Amino acid sequence: MVSTRLARYPFFEEAREEVAGRAERLVDVVDDRVLERAEERVTLALRQGETGEIASNARVELFSYPVARAVVSVVDEHPVTRRYAWAESVTARDRFVDDLTSDSSFGSVESARVSFDDIVDEFGMEIRETDESGTYEMEVGDFLELASGMSDEEWKLVNREVDNGRVRVTRDDVLELSREAVRERVADGLPLFVPEEARDAVEPAVENVREVVADADITTEIDRVEESEFPPCMETLLAEVREGEHLEHHSRFAITSFLTNIGMDTDEIIETYEVNPGFGEEMTRYQTDHIRGDTGPTEYTCPSCSTMVTYGDCRNKDELCETISHPLGYYRRRLEQLDEEEDDEEKTDEAEDDETQ
Ligand code: SF4
Repeated sequence: MVSTRLARYPFFEEAREEVAGRAERLVDVVDDRVLERAEERVTLALRQGETGEIASNARVELFSYPVARAVVSVVDEHPVTRRYAWAESVTARDRFVDDLTSDSSFGSVESARVSFDDIVDEFGMEIRETDESGTYEMEVGDFLELASGMSDEEWKLVNREVDNGRVRVTRDDVLELSREAVRERVADGLPLFVPEEARDAVEPAVENVREVVADADITTEIDRVEESEFPPCMETLLAEVREGEHLEHHSRFAITSFLTNIGMDTDEIIETYEVNPGFGEEMTRYQTDHIRGDTGPTEYTCPSCSTMVTYGDCRNKDELCETISHPLGYYRRRLEQLDEEEDDEEKTDEAEDDETQ
């Protein structure tokens, strides 16, 4: 029998081992109930930012987690993956808090809950209690590893009490860092390679998730990099990056968010920036992940034309600029024009072929 504890925390190492011990292939765990719950995990993540109530059957709940990861992998849209990992982590934190504060959530089934020490051990955090009740000390390295993915000021080391290589944290801090550890663990490796058989088995859920994505307009709909079609402002900023110029924060945010919004991944952006020694990899990776929303629930959109004007980033305007209000609108329009031109060329080539035959 699958334990309720593993069903509630399917990303724990022990849960992964349990699944691996019960089935060699992912497709072997997919049945109607598992697939239904997996789909629910993902659709609730997209709609409500959480993954819902635990299924009444622990086996179904446990297996629905790897199947949900497979569904997300087949959908293969970055905003979906990001929201899913975030929602799993938020649900996990709520359950941690519930386990630590309530003594009635599972009646007498004590083993269904986790303790504070279980959570800390699961994520390999080295912490020790201080003399002051409710506060702990944590290795700076452990703290930074998780806090570097969090954007609020309170997670910056300069805003923390640090003594002898250890950072002072509260119990709530530890739970929030654990949430971040869950998010990283859920997102790790996504999108996964999903073998053909498993892909077919999860297809009904994938279709339904795609409908939710379309209804909610979750993706930016642009996933294409055509540098020749960039708006003049972005063309200019990118040229400056490549020439090694120093860019103000707002300019750097504008170009990074634009490249992110059109579907470039973090490594591609880092590669683009590497020619500029002022764009350190670590900082670029942090900023890019943050803009992409990997480190929080928000995915940032590049600034509108009016904001670009305010910061002096609107440069080299052309005719098309007079008809749009956002650099992404400009880029979309140019892509449409490019597609039309390519269609026309194809038709002309076909006509010429017909004539020569
Ligand atoms: S009008 Fe908009 S798209 Fe055109 S250069 Fe200015 S900011 Fe860029």
